[in-house]
Amino acid sequence: MPPKAVKTIRDLIFWEYAKLISGSALGDRKNYGFVMSSFKKLQTGEMKWSQILREDLHMDQTKCIYCGATVDLSNDHIVAKRECHFAEIHNIVKSCKKCNSSKGDKDLLEWWGLENRYEIPRNVMGKYLKMLYVCHECRGTLERSDLNMDDEFNLLDLGAILRQPCDPEKVKQKAGR
Ligand SMILES: [Zn+2]
Ligand SMILES: [Zn+2]
Repeated sequence: MPPKAVKTIRDLIFWEYAKLISGSALGDRKNYGFVMSSFKKLQTGEMKWSQILREDLHMDQTKCIYCGATVDLSNDHIVAKRECHFAEIHNIVKSCKKCNSSKGDKDLLEWWGLENRYEIPRNVMGKYLKMLYVCHECRGTLERSDLNMDDEFNLLDLGAILRQPCDPEKVKQKAGR
């Protein structure tokens, strides 16, 4: 369960992303103090989320994002059959034939196993969280906090949104901005 400071969908995405930052900085995604301080920096904007979203423009295309293999690569979607114009850059990755066919249309966390989520490669988890952010933005649910009606406000709640298409009206409005 995330701490009390994590109240909205946006917070939860930042909280999970802060774990990745901790992993890169300290080699430990569960250093609570470091995760909390990175989370606060994301929340206050001291660490710019818009800049983090742009990192995906320069991803390594020469390796399988899941296992690092360099042969039999093709374009794959982290979330299968997901069509969202805004999230596409975060969803499309290079993966090898083996990972591709093992994963199939399964949800990332289902495929990898929720209990092993701390071993999901940083790039994969990072892209997944960014996609979630963009699609919650599409749907106007970033500020929601009542998706935890089962008292389990966790990554699986975040991913529930991926089972529904983005609202075409909202997407249109956003494109028109
Ligand atoms: Zn692979
Ligand atoms: Zn979307």
